[in-house]
Amino acid sequence: MRMRLIRQQDRERQGIGFNQIESPFFAKSMVRQALLSRRDEVLGLDDFLHAHGRSRGRLLYDDMQRILTTVENGDWLLVRSEPFSPLSEDSTGRYSRIGMRRRAGSQDYPLAVPAAQRKPSLPKAKPVASSLPQERSKMAQQFAFKARATEVNPYDPATLTTITVNDRAAIREAIIRLARKNGHEFVERSSWGAHEAKGEMVDDWDYSMIALHHAGRSVGCGFGAGQMLAIQSEHQAKFDDIGYHYGIDCMGKVFEGRDIRFKGSNVRNYNTGVIGIVLLENLTTAEEGGDMVSIARQALETMHGNMDQKIPAVQIDALLNLIQALTSVFRVTTLGGHREFPMQAGEGKICPGNIGMDLVRILRIKTQLMQPPSS
Ligand SMILES: [Zn+2]
Repeated sequence: MRMRLIRQQDRERQGIGFNQIESPFFAKSMVRQALLSRRDEVLGLDDFLHAHGRSRGRLLYDDMQRILTTVENGDWLLVRSEPFSPLSEDSTGRYSRIGMRRRAGSQDYPLAVPAAQRKPSLPKAKPVASSLPQERSKMAQQFAFKARATEVNPYDPATLTTITVNDRAAIREAIIRLARKNGHEFVERSSWGAHEAKGEMVDDWDYSMIALHHAGRSVGCGFGAGQMLAIQSEHQAKFDDIGYHYGIDCMGKVFEGRDIRFKGSNVRNYNTGVIGIVLLENLTTAEEGGDMVSIARQALETMHGNMDQKIPAVQIDALLNLIQALTSVFRVTTLGGHREFPMQAGEGKICPGNIGMDLVRILRIKTQLMQPPSS
């Protein structure tokens, strides 16, 4: 699928709606990829380079980063027939300058809670990791910060943090505090009415991977707290507790699942060191699975058109924010969709769906995390 880069001021004249414009946040990564490798994927790349006094050929990394800020701030727009996260869904109000009005009043995906209504953050836990950045104003800046920090000295022993058992509660709180910092609602176990874990949970701590899941082929967007309870009940028939560490609903609310101090049960035979996050909807495309569910859905789509779930922008924001919080406190190197982990079976071979996998791939570009090992 071809993409096209246009000047912001040309959009209206060319009759292109905001629903065909990729979110600048993701557009930046895509254009960067195009500059680094598959240039022909993006039309208008030459105009873009010329406008910045550059041309194809050798482009210094710093130069590239500098000109990419014009994509990030919306001066140049990436046009796609099916944007991953359309600008029309943007709820930040960040692009009002280019005529995009804050998306408000949506029943499905309400805006993040206004600052005045946010819960006060937890009392300041004692600093547990020396690398926690103090100020995070924008997601893009966070990742820029992380990328720079990593480039300077990725394996600097001075940045290693030894975590004692007593710090674990503080780390759990630090994650919650970081996740709330950008205005995302974080719901602790006690607040969604989680049942107690049944048995003795197995400790885990050296998390290095994140596994992304979807809720399954029968689950649509809904009321997150209820969805978490339903999943917990189902999982407690097999495990001691809900198998995922975190859940995120379509409104961008983050729910605490299994306490992060305990090993999850979400990737078959591969839970050690893995943090499980579930997006609380179905992210498959109709043909996935090739069974009765899939056949029924394909039949429905013949009548009603494509019913693929679009991942709400606010949910992606919340996920990125949570991943950033987790990578601030753990030495996470890897991010994978459930089915990318070795030897998965049943629904595990489908999860998190083709749409979920698109998200995983783009998140890996954004976060510079790696794909799980194949065996
Ligand atoms: Zn899964």
